[in-house]
Amino acid sequence: MSVVGSYEGVIGVDVGGTRIKAALVDDAGRILARAGCPTPDRSDPEAVLSAVAEIVKALRQDEQIGGLGVAVPGIIDEPRGVAVLAANLGWRDTPVRDLLAARTGLPVTLGHDVRSACLAEWQVGAGRRSSDLLLVTLGTGIGAGVVADGRLLRGGGYAGQLGHVVVDPDGDACGCGQRGCLATVASATSLVRRYQERTSRADLSAAEVMRRASAGDPAAVAVVTDATSALAGALASAVTVFGSDTVVVGGGLALAGEQLLAPVRAALRESLTFQRKPTVVAAELGDESGVVGAALLARTWPDPAGSP
Ligand SMILES: [Zn+2]
Repeated sequence: MSVVGSYEGVIGVDVGGTRIKAALVDDAGRILARAGCPTPDRSDPEAVLSAVAEIVKALRQDEQIGGLGVAVPGIIDEPRGVAVLAANLGWRDTPVRDLLAARTGLPVTLGHDVRSACLAEWQVGAGRRSSDLLLVTLGTGIGAGVVADGRLLRGGGYAGQLGHVVVDPDGDACGCGQRGCLATVASATSLVRRYQERTSRADLSAAEVMRRASAGDPAAVAVVTDATSALAGALASAVTVFGSDTVVVGGGLALAGEQLLAPVRAALRESLTFQRKPTVVAAELGDESGVVGAALLARTWPDPAGSP
């Protein structure tokens, strides 16, 4: 990408179920400008595309833009630029890349949201010194990104579904059709639900459950201990398979910091014997990892591994 006389950035857009976030990002992954809006109702998939096009227009202004990277949840066919299934956005087999390229006149790269976040944490965030890292995001659900031997795995759009690894075959039903998935024990949503089942206290956030656990509330302690144990178990399996030396923990629950990380780190170290003992650290980019990663993905294309 050559620039003469004026700055050329890339726009990254993170299309979430409740908000669309966008940013103009430079070569080094630094954010130069931001924009955002609520996500339109999923019953109107066209409206989501229009909202993305509008936000890009607002960010562009007079800047020369080198490209547009768009990160989306669900099952994403990145080489074809198709959202195979993005239930929160009402997209099914939607050719998002081509539709947005037509609306914006920009070259568009479509990526998965957690994979994009992983790319960002790997290249400019908490995992930048590693070529074998796992990113796990703990939010409404649980997602993961895997970098192995300096390549970001894609698995045809199916890699990284750590939240649907079964940790308790007799556990709670999961939306995916299985029972006892990690997401039913260790996601922010499940912390709230499991605490509510024990106490009948409704309308508490996951952050409040964490706070109660740190204050010694027995029900909260039990729920959080179950979550950290299950997470450590699933991470131990992943580390054993991929040889990861770094685990980066992101998503809303990671804001709990060492309260969450310390027990996961301890349980993980205890369960591993001959394997690498990964460092376990909090993500650095917070809720901007998606937009930064989407922009980096656009910059690294056509190398689909996102290698620098
Ligand atoms: Zn599941």
